[in-house]
Amino acid sequence: MSPTASPSATRVLVLNSGSSSLKYQLLDMGDGTRLAAGLVERIGEESSRVVHTPLGPDAGEKRERTAEVADHDAALKAVAEELSKDGVGLDSPELAAVGHRVVHGGLRFSEPTVVTDEVLAEIERLVPVAPLHNPANITGIRTATALRPDLPQVAVFDTAFHTTMPEYAARYAIDTETADAHRVRRYGFHGTSHAYVSARTAKLLNRDPSEVNVIVLHLGNGASASAVAGGRCVDTSMGLTPLEGLVMGTRSGDVDPAVVFHLSRNAGMSNDDVDALLNKKSGLVGLCGDNDMREIRRRIDAGDERARLAFDVYVHRLKKYIGAYYAVLGRVDAVVFTAGVGENAAEVRAAAVAGLEELGLAVDAGLNAVRSGEARLISPEYARVAVAVVPTDEELEIARQTYALVRGDRGADAGE
Ligand code: AMP
Repeated sequence: MSPTASPSATRVLVLNSGSSSLKYQLLDMGDGTRLAAGLVERIGEESSRVVHTPLGPDAGEKRERTAEVADHDAALKAVAEELSKDGVGLDSPELAAVGHRVVHGGLRFSEPTVVTDEVLAEIERLVPVAPLHNPANITGIRTATALRPDLPQVAVFDTAFHTTMPEYAARYAIDTETADAHRVRRYGFHGTSHAYVSARTAKLLNRDPSEVNVIVLHLGNGASASAVAGGRCVDTSMGLTPLEGLVMGTRSGDVDPAVVFHLSRNAGMSNDDVDALLNKKSGLVGLCGDNDMREIRRRIDAGDERARLAFDVYVHRLKKYIGAYYAVLGRVDAVVFTAGVGENAAEVRAAAVAGLEELGLAVDAGLNAVRSGEARLISPEYARVAVAVVPTDEELEIARQTYALVRGDRGADAGE
């Protein structure tokens, strides 16, 4: 029998486990408060870093220390120690569940899922299509299970929101037998963010999510766009892996696949070399040497041509996706920017919709320039299509989905 949450328990620990890092947040879904957030970095190295921020009603100072954290097990113990200092330890009966970000859920997982041995085996079976992420996510789940075997562990998949894509958007036009044998299709990523932001945008517009069509532009170091019709994803820019689509911090996004053969035949590069080139040495970094949009802006202001070109390539791709998803949706109610670049870089937002007035899209310069952590509209009143900035909150969304699942009321809207 799988573990069940105690009826009075309202806290959810959210874990985002990377290959050498563990990010976490503790949320109370009873009253919607965030109790703590932090991360353990450089796990397995000599000097790991533990950063913990207490956020509850009696929040204290942020604490940072270096320590030797050998593995994820030790990392979670370090997290438990920090939380205990704040009186919100992981041994508390108030903890209802642990929600895990899992990057790849393939076609099988379209909903958050309580982890069983069978579910874990399926996540493991997906490692070939998510070699960097799923193994770390599995480690996180195993570690948390060992610490609190009595608690439900819930997997919330980055791909889940995109499983509603119609088959014609998910299929690559390649030989069907080969594609099916190797599970080659478009899955999409950042789904938790796209789900949260599209729903939050409907709320900002005072409309029911089932009524609105939204283009979500998640522009962080990784970047993806999605077309969401009535709350359901109908297309997204990332594909088999997070490499496809927009120009990103270090990833190329769309390229002619023949680039790979060309480099392998003519530059003597191996598969791994080209993989590293397209994932780690491309995008903004490849174009101008920097992946931080703030630095790129500084360089542009100082007259740097390479930085200018990098910005223009980035924005051009973004604009093409806005146009493509406008056509896919037919009617668009809002274009919404989120994540590090989308939430902060007013110039990117302005440039991405510049010249699209015929599509009903415009940005009000004054509203766009306002710096704020709130969800807000930045389009002028006359514009037919709303343009919005909505800070993403993947942890809250994971906690909500986890809590709703263990309470048996999926769709509940705790918090906010
Ligand atoms: P994320 O992956 O969502 O954390 O986004 C990280 C990226 O956001 C960084 O690489 C920067 O390019 C960008 N970013 C963060 N803060 C700002 C800012 N104030 N202005 C412009 N870009 C920013």
